[in-house]
Amino acid sequence: MNQPDKRMKPENNQELMQRDLAVLWHPCTQMKDHESYPLIPIKNGNGVWLHDFDGNRYIDAISSWWVNIFGHANPTINAALSEQASQLEHVIFAGFSHEPGIRLAERLVAMTPDKLNRVFYGDNGSSAVEIALKMSFHYWKNQGKPKKTQFVNLVNSYHGETFGALAVGDVALYKETYEPLLMTCRTVESPDCFYREEQESWEQYSLRKLDSMRCELEKHHETIAAVVIEPLIQCAGNMRMYHPVYLRQLRKLCDEFDVHLIADEIAVGFGRTGTMFGCEQAEISPDFLCVGKGLTAGYLPLSAVLTTQSVYDAFYDDYETLRAFLHSHSYTGNPLACGVALATLDMFESENTIVENQTTAKFMGEAFAHLNDHPHVAEVRQTGMVLAAEMVSDKKNRIPYPWQERRGLKVYQHGLKNECLLRPIGNVVYLMPPYVIDREQINHLAKIATEGIELATR
Ligand SMILES: *Cc1c(COP(=O)(O)O)cnc(C)c1O
Repeated sequence: MNQPDKRMKPENNQELMQRDLAVLWHPCTQMKDHESYPLIPIKNGNGVWLHDFDGNRYIDAISSWWVNIFGHANPTINAALSEQASQLEHVIFAGFSHEPGIRLAERLVAMTPDKLNRVFYGDNGSSAVEIALKMSFHYWKNQGKPKKTQFVNLVNSYHGETFGALAVGDVALYKETYEPLLMTCRTVESPDCFYREEQESWEQYSLRKLDSMRCELEKHHETIAAVVIEPLIQCAGNMRMYHPVYLRQLRKLCDEFDVHLIADEIAVGFGRTGTMFGCEQAEISPDFLCVGKGLTAGYLPLSAVLTTQSVYDAFYDDYETLRAFLHSHSYTGNPLACGVALATLDMFESENTIVENQTTAKFMGEAFAHLNDHPHVAEVRQTGMVLAAEMVSDKKNRIPYPWQERRGLKVYQHGLKNECLLRPIGNVVYLMPPYVIDREQINHLAKIATEGIELATR
């Protein structure tokens, strides 16, 4: 499998990089950086490994932007994909339907919190968020409450990059430039426990941060359609974490003030937090659940919004009333993606993934625990299969390094030289690996991450 294809002229990293940089524009990248940092063309993948054209390999410690679950080129998923391709690649999903789309919706309804029993497909995470925002607003409009036009979000939240999704996020790096174009949001304090007092528990701190939310809802609930939130981990917001008690109480507040709760589990769904969905740890059912990323184990772009019967019913009427949800994407419910998602869900069962992950997560925690004592690591935090070490200039006062110093980049480069794809967010070095990672690989990541942090904090 790793033999070069003899029919093609041999290619190497350098040559492909030059061809790439001549025609491509990459995501989330200042392209000028590639004058100094190489772009790495990947030839193939196998399990947690990625192989480039020069014969180097890298452990994909970040699951290729949080999407991969069961490793690259997984034989079981490959088989499901080619089986589906031999049957039906795609068909319009309005007026027509197909078996993988139906079966996947049935499975999602069965495995998500109780009240969620309607599925609307999208083709990426951002569009799932947009769908939930539009549905929420439209629900209230259909209910005779057109004044509910606003959304509440958390400080440091992230929900994607398209206008609506960007508007309900709060990561300045992505948002600030486009602010003049975006709808405004009511942003309240985050339960993120990084800034808790020394003696304060996660639970106490997260609970205390609910006051800001309560205050906003009390004052403005008449104009608020929904609260949108990432359960348990603000991933793009530096992998900041909080206690499930916050979600539990937030659900109550949303009920009290007649406001929807949108749970964006695009990053944390499908086992990342230790449970299948983050909401399970708070024993709540949101009004909208957005899923994406891991839904297809990192194979194909697919997302879904699950909602309740009562939301669905508010749109169900004679055509002339114009209450229908007239939203669509060309690839809505793509059968290939649905087929892969079904194979992914099967693997959760056949591999006993959620239970196995408990052991893997524990091992990850132990392998990285020593970094807690590092003079420039504020803390090592972990929720399930996500572990983060945050580098700071002043540990005691948790003062960050100036962002211009790009210390995370040094860890990234050290990783690349040592068979690791670690791609820190700012100064936060994290692991969000495929679930099939083994102990030896985790130990290697811990070793290289530690060396990288050492180099970067000198
Ligand atoms: C990645 C992400 C999104 C956006 O998903 P895309 O598929 O990249 O559009 C939305 N919300 C959260 C929490 C995410 O992590």
